[in-house]
Amino acid sequence: MNSKTLTKVALRYRAVFLDVSRESIDMQSQATAPVMAFVARLKEVGFCLTEELLHALNGVPVDRLAQVTECINDVMGVHLNWAALVKGWDVPTGETAGDHLITWFVNAFSDTVPFRGTTLPCGHLIPEGTFPLERYNGCPFCGTPFETADFVYKGQGSKLKELRLFTLGDLQQVLASLLASATPLDGTQRDSLELLLREFPLPDSVNVTMKETAMLVIKQLVAQDRAAEATRLFKTPTDVLRYLWYEKTGRVQILEPKTLVANARRLYAHIWEPLDWQADAAKAMKEKLKLKYDRKACLRVALWMNALPLTARQAAENMNAKRGMWVRVIRALRLAEYSHKRGFDRLAELLDVFYRQDYSTWQGRVDKARKENDADTTLALLRERPGLFARCLFATMLRFGSERVLTAFREVTDKLPARLLLSLGNAADAYFDPKGTRIARTITGMTHKMEPNQLLALYSDDDRRAMVTAVNDLYLSAMARHFAAQKTEAKTMYIDPQLRNIPVSVGDRSATLQDASCALMGTRFPVEGDAVRLFLQWGQGLHAQPLDMDLSCRIFFEDDGENEDCAYYNLTCTGAKHSGDIRHIPEMVGTAEYIELSLPELEKAEAKYVVFTCNAYSTGGLSPNLVVGWMNSAYKMKVSEKKGVAYDPSCVQHMVRISENDLSRGLVFGVLDVSQRVIIWLEMPLGTQTVRGVGESSETIEALLRRLESKLSVGELLEMKAKAQNLKLVENKDDADEAYTYQWALNPADVTQLLSAE
Ligand SMILES: [Zn+2]
Repeated sequence: MNSKTLTKVALRYRAVFLDVSRESIDMQSQATAPVMAFVARLKEVGFCLTEELLHALNGVPVDRLAQVTECINDVMGVHLNWAALVKGWDVPTGETAGDHLITWFVNAFSDTVPFRGTTLPCGHLIPEGTFPLERYNGCPFCGTPFETADFVYKGQGSKLKELRLFTLGDLQQVLASLLASATPLDGTQRDSLELLLREFPLPDSVNVTMKETAMLVIKQLVAQDRAAEATRLFKTPTDVLRYLWYEKTGRVQILEPKTLVANARRLYAHIWEPLDWQADAAKAMKEKLKLKYDRKACLRVALWMNALPLTARQAAENMNAKRGMWVRVIRALRLAEYSHKRGFDRLAELLDVFYRQDYSTWQGRVDKARKENDADTTLALLRERPGLFARCLFATMLRFGSERVLTAFREVTDKLPARLLLSLGNAADAYFDPKGTRIARTITGMTHKMEPNQLLALYSDDDRRAMVTAVNDLYLSAMARHFAAQKTEAKTMYIDPQLRNIPVSVGDRSATLQDASCALMGTRFPVEGDAVRLFLQWGQGLHAQPLDMDLSCRIFFEDDGENEDCAYYNLTCTGAKHSGDIRHIPEMVGTAEYIELSLPELEKAEAKYVVFTCNAYSTGGLSPNLVVGWMNSAYKMKVSEKKGVAYDPSCVQHMVRISENDLSRGLVFGVLDVSQRVIIWLEMPLGTQTVRGVGESSETIEALLRRLESKLSVGELLEMKAKAQNLKLVENKDDADEAYTYQWALNPADVTQLLSAE
């Protein structure tokens, strides 16, 4: 057992993992000297402990305390370089665009004309009378730092975050909850699942319902030579194909290989990148998609296919939609050869039916009826396959009329998972909006550009709005029926007020990793003092090289239309100061940028929102292991006059890390609502190099916030439950028979279990 891994996962749940049993904890014990020292170290970086955890620590070896401290320091970035380009950057240097221009000119012509100035280690000559060099830790012209720092501030935070105890049992419960979740897992949850599967066996009793989760589990099992255990996770041939696809691409949704190669090319289709990058990316993707399998892989798949719980006809029909891909896969995996071996009779029968095409397809019959405008037959066929009916519900409504189609659909809603009905409701708003193309993120986390359905033009705005409402009612009425049917002894219920802002998770998920504690998208963080300090740290573990990441924010004002940026091209603006643009990283320790926001100044200038972003200016995407977040404290937060260090782990309110395979150019990671004094944690990938991608008007941000708010929240659903079951809502969780806290909502399976009508 790797206690380091387990400590890391526990910390995400605001807990410390100890290999103890709860019964053996002596709740009367006195804290030992090492435990007291441990508590003091944790306090410096912003954590305190529950009673139970404190007492449990007394029975733990001192080495383990040291290990936990180290793990927390790692996660909080205590040992990284937090120096800024500008010393004491809370006082602006007053550098101008003119300074940059003159310096550029002087360096371009210094061979021919002698200029007075200072030559820096990077080779740049900074002419006299331009940048105030005494204020910089590096070159103000090219953004190369010459100094690093080996300290951070500690203990300036005004709120300690409480850590609780996690035992082995608690972690196993987390694993089970992640596996059973009926909503898609976010980046942090996926990573935790992977880490836990390395330490624990796959529990027999758990039913993995999400395709994406199943793929992740299978991949882990295959990597550990436990492929046979995965057999029960394959329900159809499509599941097998999906896994083969996932193995190659890391994606759950099967696309035509052509499309993926084209996408790879497009990813690099950017003005700053040379054309051969595009060609290389496309070539690399082609190479990756080549079907080459060794004997072991062939046997593995043959065994899985042979054990599928479908008849040969059902299986062959299932394979029909991707017939072309299957033909190639069957050949590459030599399945025909295996089907002649003893014990592979089922595989042999399946291949026989598949090649003779001795099956009719349901899809073919639907297409025919639809083409003939035969509503009765189409709807009758769709009712046979509720899941597929749901998938084409909107288009069918537009084709045959809302009333008629929804009447048919209602007959099958109880056969569908509640999650699916909910995601239909969330998707309806965008689908029935006829305005232009839009980017939609599917349940599998992929982004698609979708053209609006042409039939939308046939309907009036009122018609379209009525369709959206009707779709939303499907879920609400299904849930009301479900809750009312549940018997309960409880009389009272407590709902954490925070849960009213947390949308029930279906589509939009964060892709970043949250190591310090996981927050749910939509969480609102109250601002305590007068300052919010954004930070960005990148380049840890990499050699010195040019690597330009940018921390920026865009400020939107009340009188719409105007906005200001605080970014590398504008270091100071109303209510914001930037610590200087760094474009090269030093050796191994990474580098940092900050932005300080002043709430009083923003309020005075009638600022409405401040949108936080980080962007990759250099080629490729955001750098792996890049950490971004914000600090806040009721007390003043220091900025060092010598090194510009301005980081204090105890003040960190929220931070996220970019995982290895994130290729987006930029990320919105929070929005400050100035008048409300709250920061809303949300995440939106940006395709652009700078903060300008956020848009010119605050409407974009308002639309984003509205979308979060318009989604059904966990709190609203719980209210429905209370109403349907006649429970009284109470203010205090200790007075309630049923209590739903923010901590509870962090376990996806617990939430989905309650909120699904399955
Ligand atoms: Zn330079």
